[in-house]
Amino acid sequence: MRAEAIETVRRILCVFPRYTSSFGTFEYAYPLTDGVQAFMPPQGLLLIAAYMPANWPVRFIDENIRPASTADFEWAEAVLVSGMHIQRQQMNDICRRAHAFDLAVAIGGPSVSACPDYYPSFDYLHVGELGDATDELIARLARDPSRPAQQVVLKTADRLDMTSFPIPAYQLADIKRYFLGSIQYSSGCPYQCEFCDIPGLYGRNPRLKTPQQITAELDKLLECGVTGSVYFVDDNFIGNRKAAVDLLPHLIEWQKSARRRSTSPSGRRFSRKCARPSSSPSSAASRPRIPMR
Ligand code: SF4
Repeated sequence: MRAEAIETVRRILCVFPRYTSSFGTFEYAYPLTDGVQAFMPPQGLLLIAAYMPANWPVRFIDENIRPASTADFEWAEAVLVSGMHIQRQQMNDICRRAHAFDLAVAIGGPSVSACPDYYPSFDYLHVGELGDATDELIARLARDPSRPAQQVVLKTADRLDMTSFPIPAYQLADIKRYFLGSIQYSSGCPYQCEFCDIPGLYGRNPRLKTPQQITAELDKLLECGVTGSVYFVDDNFIGNRKAAVDLLPHLIEWQKSARRRSTSPSGRRFSRKCARPSSSPSSAASRPRIPMR
């Protein structure tokens, strides 16, 4: 589902910050590929982009691929940012650049949810997951997109059920520029490892999408050009073991069906459009594969 329709139209610029260089993003392997420029499509920001009212134009920029331009900021009426601690400096930099255009800037995601005090310059802090705080943010931007006189902190008390999540707006991202596809099945973890903030942020009772949502998302990823691996970015994929076991037969069936479609005449047309060149080093990974990690 999306946010309720609102008559007032706002142009929303979603900007995902560049990652600080690290081993984990595999960026030094990108020159070995045929055009990969970034690690994975960001689930959180693409989910928020998909949740915006249907009549609100949304533009998505991943600064790991290209920086937001003057034209992007001039187009926008408000800017949304999301990221992890490792992107803190870059998120604050996006806020500074957006303020140069006098735009209101909202930040959500794991970093601000864990440490709101890291982000004193932002106009809106969205703390927690998609839910009532998101609806309140949309309502405030609809009423008045200008910068509020002081920072507004919106905390999600009522999370949107994951079975109502829209498919992330993969179509807004340049999917073929990513090293891996990404997908989320569950949120939260029942364990309490002492070094981990996941149970505190996302709860100890894993929330789930349905298998049908997952296969529909995989279809959309394939449609948008993901022809290699898809990474499940769950906090803990086996946090609810029964649910994980229930999902697996659906994934197996989906993989069989995707292979059939890729070898059918219409599928071959689809593959020619979407697949990487056969001479590329990554062509061995051109069949849909779903690693469970
Ligand atoms: S998400 Fe992983 S590390 Fe964190 S509490 Fe759960 S099992 Fe432990």
